Amino acid sequence: MTNTVNEPARTLPVYGDYDVVVVGGGPAGQAASVSAARNGAKVLLVERYGFLGGMGTAGGVTNFAGLYGRKDGQMQQVVHGMVDELLERLDTLGGLNQPQDGMQGRIRVRSYDVSAYKCAADQMLLACGVQLLFHAWAAAVVMDGPRISALVVETKSGRQAIRAPCFIDCSGDADVAHFAGVPFELGDGHGSALFPTTMFRVGHVDAQRALQAVGEFTAINTLMAKSQQDKPGSYQFPRDGAILRPQKNPTEWRANVTQIRNAAGKAMDATDAQQLSAGEIEGRRQISEYFRFLKCEVPGFEQAEIVDIAPQVGIRETRRIQGHYALSGEDILSSAQFDDAIGINAWPMETHAAGRIDWQFPRNFDTGVGRVYNDLPWQMLIPVKVDNLLVAGRCASMTHEGQSAARASGGCFVMGQAAGTAAAQLQAGQKFADLDVRKLQANLKKDGVYFDNHRI
Ligand SMILES: Cc1cc2nc3c(=O)[nH]c(=O)nc-3n(C[C@H](O)[C@H](O)[C@H](O)COP(=O)(O)OP(=O)(O)OC[C@H]3O[C@@H](n4cnc5c(N)ncnc54)[C@H](O)[C@@H]3O)c2cc1C
Repeated sequence: MTNTVNEPARTLPVYGDYDVVVVGGGPAGQAASVSAARNGAKVLLVERYGFLGGMGTAGGVTNFAGLYGRKDGQMQQVVHGMVDELLERLDTLGGLNQPQDGMQGRIRVRSYDVSAYKCAADQMLLACGVQLLFHAWAAAVVMDGPRISALVVETKSGRQAIRAPCFIDCSGDADVAHFAGVPFELGDGHGSALFPTTMFRVGHVDAQRALQAVGEFTAINTLMAKSQQDKPGSYQFPRDGAILRPQKNPTEWRANVTQIRNAAGKAMDATDAQQLSAGEIEGRRQISEYFRFLKCEVPGFEQAEIVDIAPQVGIRETRRIQGHYALSGEDILSSAQFDDAIGINAWPMETHAAGRIDWQFPRNFDTGVGRVYNDLPWQMLIPVKVDNLLVAGRCASMTHEGQSAARASGGCFVMGQAAGTAAAQLQAGQKFADLDVRKLQANLKKDGVYFDNHRI
């Protein structure tokens, strides 16, 4: 018996013809779709789940990072554009928290309610005429030389083709680019990656006492260490560096505490079906264990209940495509500027390594002078080998180190907005690599994107 079977060739019905097809409805995919549509394109967004938000909803992240950065000692919002409308819609639905500072004022984030995010994203995309195809899994591409001529999706109505002159891969895993033959690096390139985390939220927390006990990350870690010292073997923690923070409703807290390994002890590979399946079970096992610790040992959590375990294990890093430029760790640490900037990444390097989280801030963070964030360059969105594809979000062209920063939602919104705007600008038969970058930057500025680079 061989371990392969041959699938017979088949003729597929065409679901539709569009100007731009976007795969994935996370921060990058939403921004790409909205921006392409607002700039005049007929857009279809294909999403495998029945809701938008990507890791923000499906992965239970419930928090926007990377929107705020420090300039001349002042923390301020530096990612603008399409995301402003999303924040406004979330706020109107009552689902957006006030900005929260952490790590002694080094970071500022905004948490949100998952259900409100799903509704706000629907509203925003429909308001600008984006067509949505939910429960559709991008499964293959049809190539015409160096161009993708159709995307193949699996749906409840069967396998179908979608045609367009250009495509944007915001799948987080670079699925479309992979199908099209774009080279990539998986994780750290050495069999591991930023470790995944299954997120969960607990309700019925005594907010005041919990805040005191948990502090700004450090106090909870001290409590964990103390419990291991006082009661050896009582609890197993998958990593140091628990992140426990309140949501808009102060009695509801999100917990970012698990860490999912594979059998070899490396980060679970989310492009491996079997590992992904085992990882879901392991995430829930770790949550039961950590919840027992919370209830028994952490003041304020005595009456807590788990209100949600995220629908899927949260994936930080899988494939990163080879593009015309790879954003690097040095770009983050040096607060790099680029002539072809498309906006800003304001999140530091946050490396989820085995058993711990390492943070590295730009070198000029403590001097208080100038901008403490980096530009994102246009060329990181352009894959090699395929002419009519852009890749935006956590699978864009970055090194493992660069991605540990720019993968935060803020940077993904920026990349998505640039990709969508560029797609609407692309002429028939043109390569993305030949696009007029100055015109793209002018269009992004018109649509509210913030540039903090005197050359633009
Ligand atoms: C545990 C965890 C905690 C995090 N904490 C924070 C935080 O506090 N703040 C923050 O800003 N960021 C955080 N991040 C990072 C951030 O959430 C992600 O990096 C970001 O959502 C990436 O955006 P994206 O649009 O590139 O991809 P994703 O958000 O991953 O979205 C990809 C979308 O594509 C869809 N998709 C994938 N494959 C296919 C396919 N083949 N066909 C159709 N659809 C497909 C998915 O269903 C998904 O909706 C965290 C991430 C994790 C995992």
